[in-house]
Order: sequence, then structure tokens, then C-alpha cells
Amino acid sequence: MDAPIIKSFRIGGTSRDSAVGSSAVITSINPADGSIAGTVTRATAQDVDDAVAVAWDAFRNKPWRKLRPDQRATTLYEIGRRLLLERESLARLQMQDSGKPMKECLHMVDAAAGHFRYYAAVCETWQNEMTSPRGEYFSMALAEPFGVVACITPWNSPIMNEAQKAAPALAAGNAVLIKPSEETPQLALELVRICYEAGLPEGLITALPGYGEDVGAAMVKHPGVRMVSFTGGTDTGRAIGAIAGQRLIPVGLELGGKSPHIVFEDADIDRAVAGVMSGIFGSAGQSCVAGSRLFVQKSIYKRFMESLVEKTRSLCVGLPDDPGVQMGPLVSKAHRDKVAGYVDIGRQEGGKILVGGDRPTDPRLQNGCFYMPTIIDGLTNRARVCQEEIFGPVLVALPFEDEADVIEQGNDTAFGLAAGMWTGDYARAWRVARELEAGSVWINTYKQSHIATPFGGFKDSGIGREKGLHGLRLYSQVKSVYFGTHEKPMGL
Ligand code: NDP
Repeated sequence: MDAPIIKSFRIGGTSRDSAVGSSAVITSINPADGSIAGTVTRATAQDVDDAVAVAWDAFRNKPWRKLRPDQRATTLYEIGRRLLLERESLARLQMQDSGKPMKECLHMVDAAAGHFRYYAAVCETWQNEMTSPRGEYFSMALAEPFGVVACITPWNSPIMNEAQKAAPALAAGNAVLIKPSEETPQLALELVRICYEAGLPEGLITALPGYGEDVGAAMVKHPGVRMVSFTGGTDTGRAIGAIAGQRLIPVGLELGGKSPHIVFEDADIDRAVAGVMSGIFGSAGQSCVAGSRLFVQKSIYKRFMESLVEKTRSLCVGLPDDPGVQMGPLVSKAHRDKVAGYVDIGRQEGGKILVGGDRPTDPRLQNGCFYMPTIIDGLTNRARVCQEEIFGPVLVALPFEDEADVIEQGNDTAFGLAAGMWTGDYARAWRVARELEAGSVWINTYKQSHIATPFGGFKDSGIGREKGLHGLRLYSQVKSVYFGTHEKPMGL
């Protein structure tokens, strides 16, 4: 049998290799069938030290931060262009690493390329602020890079998550360290390769595939890391935020959610059913913005739920490269078991499983980490399955009386990432959108994402905003510069 190819990461142009079979590798398992999706060299805390030193050297001594922003834009455009040249192969690798359907993986690569193009355009058009004089001087506020920033990403949207952080961080002039999830370590290595092939000076971006408590924690604690951008679970984010607080360095935290998805009695029912399904079953529910708490107005509850359950039953759950597949596997067996455990908790709490609640019976899916799309009702919003993030294809449905009731229940959660609603009454949509405690609100649509529209959470869903101009600001610190214009010497 051929020895597996081990992909190594590189620090400052030098590959870090490790022996086959040693503990210093991470093996990525394809969640669709249990096969090996790839093996990568596992980084350690020592590699973080080395990568930080190389990154500072590149930041200080390579021209990147001193280039005019429009010059940086040329390289960022080129990275975006090259990502699209490899669209199919990157998407296939992503599919093997994460189990997402091929269609979603293609979208991830497009979005990654879009981030580099967008921040290239931001570099071309960015304006520093000039303040109008109030004396014999003029002053301006400049966006300056931090130096070395650490970007720590989860497994649910590889390459897109890394690009969402690396593109604005590089655009702002920083050197970037990436710690991808151990579940999906391969795409970050490919992104780094493409950055260098596109002409990024060596040392400005390094991906270190390793374990969170080892490599991730070492990055957050490293005195050479001046800013941390993290996407992942709320508990991890809280721990990272506490360390950053001690170190007095800024953090961007994109965390979990338990988003309310609301259907009013005046909604277009067919469109709302389709929207609710894509809101929870897209990416097999492994989406931070999944509309996982469904609120349906009492007057249409029965009719709406019948239609939703019937359509959910006919969803195509299958292998990610099957044509027509609508839902693939979960990322790992451990995660599938966690999701199944939550459904059991829902049962014990008195919930009724309207559809799903088990693994599929299709023999072709038995080696994979599949779980059927599941809808539970009969609980109150205080039930654990209504309050805790399940991060799987599990929807809890609750009836509501009126606007006031749904605003109260919708906001009755620790999270505040997103919310959605379906209604024919735009005045009501506006009123309710303003009352919901969420970083993004969708009206008669769900999970739309615009590269220029800021994204982030209220409450336990995070701190800071990514994307758009806010994305560049996140990776910049402001420096105010004053130019004296006195004609006479300054006196005391
Ligand atoms: P985790 O919080 O477990 O991990 C996220 C990343 O942090 C991984 O790379 C992980 O490494 C690393 N990590 C773990 N522990 C530490 C630590 N002590 N110090 C530094 N880094 C650490 O989340 P998941 O990967 O399980 O992702 C799912 C979560 O991400 C969900 O809660 C979801 O809501 C959230 N998410 C939020 C999004 C948003 O934009 N708001 C978008 C997507 C997901 P390792 O993999 O090795 O453990």
C-alpha cells in the first residue's frame, strides 16, 4: 500500500515535515464514508514561536506594510483570481475534509475569492480621515496594522472563514498566522500556498494546523501576537477573550447562535417553509446562523407545520457529491453523536419528534456521520434544546401569540447572532427587526450574506464585526497625526 502523502506547513519558506505514523500528524477523516481525506504535519507551540518570529521579520523588513494600499491590492486581486483557477479542486478537497455537498463547497471557494477581490477594492478606495482644523495645524487619523495577528477558525466553512480573516488582515498591512480547525486542516494550507504563488512576500502568512489547546492557545498567549480574530464556540471564545483581556490586546469574536426564525400569519407560506428549511438544514445545520428556533404564529401553526414536516421528509440526504443531494453528513462521528444526544435530551424534556430523530437507513450512508433532518415540538423556549446551540440539523418549533410574545421569546436566549422573519407587513417587519437582539436580521429571506455588509453578534454571540469596511477596521489600529502650520514659534 502506498504511504499516505503528508502535507506539510511552511514557516518562512521552509517546510516542516514529520514522519508517517508519528503523533506529529493530523489525519482528516472524510465524514461521508470514514476514509482518510488527508494527512498534515501537526504544528506545536514551538512552531508558533518560530512563526511569530518569521512573521515579525516579514512585517518589519518586507515592503508589504509600506506599500501603498493600491499596490497591495494587486496581490490581493491575484490571490482571488488564483483561488478561482483552482475552484473545482479546492472545492473537492473541502468536500472530503468537511462532508459539505459539492455545491456548498464551490460556494465557499467563490466566497473566499470574493473576500480577496473585495479587500483589494477596499485598498484601492480606502480613505483615511482628515479632521477640519481648529487651530494652526491639521490632523488626520490613519489606519495602521497591528503587526502580527492570529486568526483561529472552526471547521464548518473552511477556506471561506480563513479568507474572511486573512484578506482584510493582509489588506490592512499585517502579517497573519492561521490556526485552522483540526477537523478540516487542509484548506488553510492550500490558501497559504496560493497566497505565495500570487506574489505575497514570504513570511506574511503562515498556517499552523494543530490542536486548539496547544497551537491555538500558544498563539493567543504569545507576546508577539498583537490581535486575535477567532470564530468558533462561545466557551472557547470566552476563554480567548479572557486571555486577551489580561494581555490588553484586541479580539474579534464570532461565536455561536440559537437564532429565532419567525413566521407571521400573513407570510407567504410556501416561501416561508422553503426559507425555514434552508435556514436550518443547509450545511446540515452546522452553521452559526442556523435558524434553529422556529416560531410560528398560533393561527397558522398546524397548517404550517404539516407542510414543513412533509417537505422535510422528502429532503435528499446523501453523499456530498451525489447530484441533487440537499444535506450531507455532519463533520465527525463525535459531533453526530453530540447532535443525537441533544435529540435524546429533547425527548426526555417531553418534546415530540415530528420527523427525523435518527440516523438514515440508506445502506450507502452507514460508514458516514449522517443524521436525519429533525423537527421537535411540544417544548417551551426554556427547554435545553431551545437554549443550547446544537449545531446540527435539529429544529425546535414553538407557537406564538403576537408580536410582543415573539419578541420576548425570540430574545430569551444568551445568544444574539441572527434572526429571521416572514411577513407581508413591512411596517411590522421593521418594528420587529429593531426589537430583536441580533447582529443580522433577515426579512422574507434567510442566510443571505453580502461581502460588504458587516457580520457579527450581539450578547454571547461575539464582539466586533467582520466583512465590509468594518472588516478592515477590525485589523487596524488608529494613529492620529498632527501637522503644525504655525507661522510663529509656539509659546507657552
Ligand atoms: P471551537 O470553539 O471548538 O474551535 C474553534 C477553533 O478554536 C478551532 O480551530 C479550535 O481548534 C480552536 N481552539 C479550541 N480551543 C482553543 C483554545 N483554548 N485556544 C485557542 N484556540 C482554541 O469551535 P468548533 O470548531 O467546534 O466550531 C463550531 C462553533 O463555531 C459553533 O459554536 C459555531 O456557532 C461557531 N461558529 C461561529 C461562526 C460565526 O461567525 N459567529 C461561524 C462558524 C462557526 P481545534 O479544532 O483543534 O479544537
